[in-house]
Amino acid sequence: MLDDRRPRHETERHRRGLLLVVSSPSGAGKSTIARKLIEADADIAMSVSTTTRPPRPGEIDGVDYRFVDVAAFKRMVAEDAFLEWAHVFDNRYGTPRAPVEVMLADGRDVLFDIDWQGAQQLYQQAAGDVVRVFILPPSMAELSRRLHARATDAEEVIQRRMQRAVAEIGHWDGYDYVLVNDDVERCFAQVRLILRAERLRRHRQSGLIGLTRSLMRG
Ligand code: 5GP
Repeated sequence: MLDDRRPRHETERHRRGLLLVVSSPSGAGKSTIARKLIEADADIAMSVSTTTRPPRPGEIDGVDYRFVDVAAFKRMVAEDAFLEWAHVFDNRYGTPRAPVEVMLADGRDVLFDIDWQGAQQLYQQAAGDVVRVFILPPSMAELSRRLHARATDAEEVIQRRMQRAVAEIGHWDGYDYVLVNDDVERCFAQVRLILRAERLRRHRQSGLIGLTRSLMRG
């Protein structure tokens, strides 16, 4: 099992937080992987998006999304309250800016379950801090099976999601990592490996100059 606890010498240095974007066509398993990651790793927190889409059965306001009407969403856009926002299907989705800033200031990484438009906008604003992961389904037949098994959407909605999946997959080359989710545990382990390696990148370890200087002084 991968151990994400950091060795002592790493926690003593200050590390620059990263923004981990995980995108996929809906039904490719991204939400499951995001949930598992938040449960497994105390150093990363989820960005809760705001949306104008109605809640699905079982979804909780403030946990899965903040559900608002179109007028409230437009007000937030006018107040520049979103780091990014986009139209997805017939609804608007956005990432509130303030909670992300709090999480980063708190020394935590932030996980975003957003689409390719959001990934692109975040990257434009904070390229060096953003790590983009795209998750593909193993096949379109399997994607269809998963969307039907979820049984929360009407057939017409599922068909639209399948069409949108094709368009979404076309954006695979806007990501740093591309994974195929043919086994959720394996895919989850790969996401954790990516996170672990990205945390060790030189530019995210801001105390290295002092450490290396003192090492060289002997
Ligand atoms: P769903 O309605 O299935 O929860 O989400 C539909 C799509 O919207 C998913 O691809 C999800 O990643 C994307 N999404 C959710 N929140 C945001 C957001 O804040 N910004 C953007 N750009 N996309 C989002």
